[in-house]
Amino acid sequence: MQTRPVSLALLWWFLLGASCPAAAQTADIYFVDVGLGNATFVVSPAGQTMLLDTGPSRAANRILAFMKQAGLRQVDYLLVSHFEEDHMGAAPRLAEQVPILNWVDHGESVVFGKDDEWWRQRRGPWARPGMGKQYDESFESYRKARATGSHIIVRPGHKIPVGGLDVVALSAAGKTISAPLKGAGIPNPACASIDRRAEDDAEDGQSIGILISFGAFRFIYLGDLTWNTANSLFCPKNLVGAVDAYLVTHHAQSMTRELGDYYYGLSCCSQAEVHGLRPRAAFLSLGALGHKFGADAAMKVIRNSPGLEDLWQTEKIMEGGEKGHNAPDQFIANIGAKSEQVPFLKLSASSDGSFAVTNSRNQYTKTYPRRK
Ligand SMILES: [Zn+2]
Repeated sequence: MQTRPVSLALLWWFLLGASCPAAAQTADIYFVDVGLGNATFVVSPAGQTMLLDTGPSRAANRILAFMKQAGLRQVDYLLVSHFEEDHMGAAPRLAEQVPILNWVDHGESVVFGKDDEWWRQRRGPWARPGMGKQYDESFESYRKARATGSHIIVRPGHKIPVGGLDVVALSAAGKTISAPLKGAGIPNPACASIDRRAEDDAEDGQSIGILISFGAFRFIYLGDLTWNTANSLFCPKNLVGAVDAYLVTHHAQSMTRELGDYYYGLSCCSQAEVHGLRPRAAFLSLGALGHKFGADAAMKVIRNSPGLEDLWQTEKIMEGGEKGHNAPDQFIANIGAKSEQVPFLKLSASSDGSFAVTNSRNQYTKTYPRRK
């Protein structure tokens, strides 16, 4: 490292005690509209940036444009909840453009190297020839990009050392924490109605779920965690406790039994989970490129969650019976109109547990005062 003589101005700066940037008073969470999958930026009070999933490869330019818009120059921690295109796809292209220092994931893909027949059994009517090969290529390119930074493999109970925040993994690689978090662990009455469904042997069930705390404020994201695994966090006892903000699991994709046992087991958002978490604000990441709607059963559970004040959405649900579940327009970042700016929702949390959410489209802001 080269040393330089200290300039007078710099000395003044130093003497004034301004040598390090003052820590921010808030933790900020940006739910970016990527059209499919999920991409959520968390900017810690210490100024570190954690990105929760990247969205699909075709969203790479949107993520980069958003980073420019928000003045974010690097990703300190990229957490890829699981290895599916809609959660990791944009990572390789992103890594070419901005520094990604730490790559946090559950290790290796459990669906790498599977043949077309395996994919046909899992995807049914949505299977396409060559699906396995295409998947393998996309995971290979993720793995190559990951090698450019440090790799952190996460297991339940591990902490991710983001400055100024407490970030703990609740699930990873098909396993969940077995002991309650501090202050949690009471029996969950909603468990009485929870059935056991088919196990998932693909990537969704491998999702890393995390709880982020900033003082009294708590935010949860469980990736695309599947029915049995997610419920093991909430039944028979609620190991997590209540949260303030909930990024809705698996884009509210609860499946009907008619789709078959396998899909039924992929369902999200049981009453034990959502009502156990009792979020004040729920955030639904969906979009025209893929998850176009939240499923009826999941949306009803969310809507009826005790203590829920608002549901916020990255995009408006345009088709299906579920469009009836749309939040009022002021809570939706993208309602279909073209915009120069990448639409997003910004949550700004204080350590006393209060927070505010702003819609980038119309600057509508709602504040959620500290819980009494
Ligand atoms: Zn997903």
